Amino acid sequence: MRAVGATAAALAVPAVFLSASRRASAAQPQYVLWLERMDTGEQVADAFSLDGKSVYNPGYYRLCAALRDAHVAPAEGDVYISITLIELLWGVQQALLEQGVRQPIVIHSGYRTPETNARTEGAATNSLHMYGKAVDFEVPGVDIYDLANLCWECPRSGGVGAYGGGWVHLDTGPRRYWSG
Ligand SMILES: [Zn+2]
Repeated sequence: MRAVGATAAALAVPAVFLSASRRASAAQPQYVLWLERMDTGEQVADAFSLDGKSVYNPGYYRLCAALRDAHVAPAEGDVYISITLIELLWGVQQALLEQGVRQPIVIHSGYRTPETNARTEGAATNSLHMYGKAVDFEVPGVDIYDLANLCWECPRSGGVGAYGGGWVHLDTGPRRYWSG
């Protein structure tokens, strides 16, 4: 796995991303994120942290791999995804679980190499997808605009884009909302 942009630095100093009220149980990891890739159908459900304070690398790496750019070889397409983005997706999934929605987050696009981004219709030229800081996804059975609203309400979400074609864009950049 390789580093892109500044995401490697984020690993060296894991973000303090959880409030003191959310304590992990040693017996049952809480910080499990359940992802499915739309293109291959593969599913990953792994913990990115065991204690809510530090990153659990084996699980984190598997989640990064699930967000890879599959248009290129793994050496090129498997990168360190922003841990903030992983936490954001987890927050979205937790909010859905609280509403009784028990479904994977289905990934349309995670990391993109510059070449893949250039070939992606409608993609921004300096897209945060190229830095492992953006993801496009849907959740089965959840309306796209409801999902976008839920993302917007999640603490620390950056950009949220609702696409009527069937996905939500979520990133860790400046806070902004759009629909496309
Ligand atoms: Zn996007």
